[in-house]
Amino acid sequence: MDTRISEAIIMRVRDFGESDLMVSFFTTDQGRLTGVAKGGRRSRRRFSNCLDLFCLTSLEYGQRRKGDLVMLESGRLINGFAGLRSDFATLSLASYLTELTEILFPQNLTDPAMFELLRDSFAAIEEGMYTEAIRIYFEARAMTLGGYRINLERCARCGRAYTGAGMAVFMRTKGGIACLNCERPSPDNPAIGPVAASILCKMQSEPWKNIDVTLLTTDLISEIRPVVKRHMEFRLGRSLKSSRYLQL
Ligand SMILES: [Zn+2]
Repeated sequence: MDTRISEAIIMRVRDFGESDLMVSFFTTDQGRLTGVAKGGRRSRRRFSNCLDLFCLTSLEYGQRRKGDLVMLESGRLINGFAGLRSDFATLSLASYLTELTEILFPQNLTDPAMFELLRDSFAAIEEGMYTEAIRIYFEARAMTLGGYRINLERCARCGRAYTGAGMAVFMRTKGGIACLNCERPSPDNPAIGPVAASILCKMQSEPWKNIDVTLLTTDLISEIRPVVKRHMEFRLGRSLKSSRYLQL
């Protein structure tokens, strides 16, 4: 049986049978996979602390032979991200980011940029800063990587280029903005100003390290949040189960 080694983030773990573990994980090169760790509940040698929730792990696994399950052979911990499991707020946020990743990236859909996004966001949460900024950035970037980028370049109705000079209106049904000549703001179609639009544009296209989080003030996040919220609700057709536990 061919085995493969991938960097992986552990997304879900549950007991399976008497001594095994069923593990869902997101890899750099194979997308999201589910595997069985034989004796995983007891084997400290093969899986030493590396199957805990949210761990970054180098996993060795056998390619699937039947069904969708892979067989986990061994693992080596790269980063435990223990801080994510240490309090309710960080645990809730990490669970939320994981759930959004699962929705946007079903099994077998691979994107190294999405893996980097999840890994870098976990690292940023563990540093304990900018929780609100991490969440809005993750949402905007993950939706883009999942194929739902918000079009901020031109009016979705008349096609006029948005020069970034005035207010625009986000239209959830169009997944983009409209000019004030074409559309009026409403609860479903919130207004967005030029600074917020420009930062949203950057968050959609740039990795976390290129984002100057000090620019993401509470006021700007409050302006961007309704746009991203309406966009996610409309495109995903649901709100996320873990979102009810978020405290921001
Ligand atoms: Zn227009």
